[in-house]
Amino acid sequence: LVVLDNVNKHFGALHVLQDIDLTIHRGEVVVVIGPSGSGKSTLCRTINRLETIDSGSITIDGKPLPQEGRELARLRADVGMVFQSFNLFAHKTVLENVMLGQTKVRKTDKADAMAKARTLLDRVGVGTQADKYPAQLSGGQQQRVAIARALAMDPKVMLFDEPTSALDPEMINEVLDVMQQLARDGMTMIVVTHEMGFARSAANRVVFMADGRIVEEAEPNQFFNNPRSDRAKDFLSKIL
Ligand code: ATP
Ligand code: MG
Repeated sequence: LVVLDNVNKHFGALHVLQDIDLTIHRGEVVVVIGPSGSGKSTLCRTINRLETIDSGSITIDGKPLPQEGRELARLRADVGMVFQSFNLFAHKTVLENVMLGQTKVRKTDKADAMAKARTLLDRVGVGTQADKYPAQLSGGQQQRVAIARALAMDPKVMLFDEPTSALDPEMINEVLDVMQQLARDGMTMIVVTHEMGFARSAANRVVFMADGRIVEEAEPNQFFNNPRSDRAKDFLSKIL
C-alpha cells in the first residue's frame, strides 16, 4: 500500500533519511522505534508530504505523492496523521473538529458529516464531549478526538507520531486501547512510539531506525528477544 524506494533527504548537511526502502502492506501495523534524532518523525512527515524528499520515490496505492493543490489535500486525507501535540482547532467544538475535513475536503454534506462524527466520537469513547471545546478535555480525550478526526476522512493509512508522549501516564492506555482496536479492525498503521507493550502486542513488524537508516526490521518477538544489530541491542538495553 505504501512503498518507499531508496528515499533520501537532507536538512542542509544532515543526511536525515538515508536509502530508506520500506513497504507497508494493507492491514499491516508497523511500529517504528529508534533513538531521538534518528529520523522517525521525518520519515512519517515525508509520507503525507509535510516534508519533501531529495531522491527516491514514495507511492501510495501505486501512485506517486501529489505535489500540490487539491490533490495534496486529498493525500493528507488519505494518510491520516496523529501527532504528539493533538493539533485540534481550538476555536471549534469537538464535533466541528471531526466534521470539518469531511465537508471541506471530502465534500460530504453537513448532516452526513455530523452523523459520522458522532459515530466516530462514540467509537473512541468521547461521544459525550461532542459540544465542548478542546481545551475543556483531558489530553487523552483530545488525542482520541484527533484520532476520530483522522478516521472521519476514511484514510487508507494512519500515521501516529508518538501519540502518547505528551500524555499523563493514566491517559496513555485509553489512547493505546483505541489504537489497538483500530489495528484489530484492519487499519493500515505506521506508529512511532516508545510504548514497547503496544509494539509487542499490536505490531506485525518493528522497524528500528538509527542515524537516518533502517538498521533492522523484524517481527516484534524476534526483535525484542533476539535483536541482530549492535545498535538495536544497545537501544533495547537502555529502554527495557
Ligand atoms: P525524536 O525521537 O526525538 O522525536 P526523531 O527520530 O523523530 O527524534 P526527527 O525529528 O525525524 O527525529 O529528526 C531527525 C534529525 O533531523 C534531527 O537531528 C533533527 O534535529 C533534524 N531535523 C528535524 N526537522 C528538521 C528541520 N525542519 N530542519 C532541520 N533539521 C531538522
Ligand atoms: Mg520524532
